[in-house]
Amino acid sequence: MRLSYNRSVMERTLAIIKPDAVKSGVTGKILARIEANGFQIRAMRMIHMSKAEAEGFYYVHKARPFFGALTDFMSSGPCVVMCLESDGAIRKWRHQMGATDPAKAEAGTLRKDFGASIDNNATHGSDAPETASFELGYFFRGMEL
Ligand code: ATP
Ligand code: MG
Repeated sequence: MRLSYNRSVMERTLAIIKPDAVKSGVTGKILARIEANGFQIRAMRMIHMSKAEAEGFYYVHKARPFFGALTDFMSSGPCVVMCLESDGAIRKWRHQMGATDPAKAEAGTLRKDFGASIDNNATHGSDAPETASFELGYFFRGMEL
């Protein structure tokens, strides 16, 4: 067993810097804020999802009225997918992102500072342990984590 005890109690979540934020050139700023907040970046890759790949990622929303616009947007350009690790990473990352709608997000959150609208809201984060497990597996092989 090579993993230390400390490392094994850490939680992991899937984070995405969405196409709007990559396009507007704030990838580096967001990464700096992630690290300053105490996350370890365990894996990271820039990808340009196809429409079908975006649909697979957001399949839980397939019946929602915004599914078409959401998956068009997520496949509109490159994004950065990451595995973030910390104590309570799932809640901690969602707190750092802020509310889904940037207009309702708290001051100092990433969506407040970098999101333009509910459709173009700069970042994604898993919302529960089961979701994190599915989403991390969607983008990363075990060996990369
Ligand atoms: P994400 O999953 O991207 O981290 P979230 O968990 O805060 O965001 P979800 O409810 O999972 O919010 O919605 C997924 C995405 O769908 C949101 O990020 C947003 O861009 C879009 N979305 C959600 N609700 C609406 C809505 N009412 N109108 C338009 N787009 C929406
Ligand atoms: Mg969500």
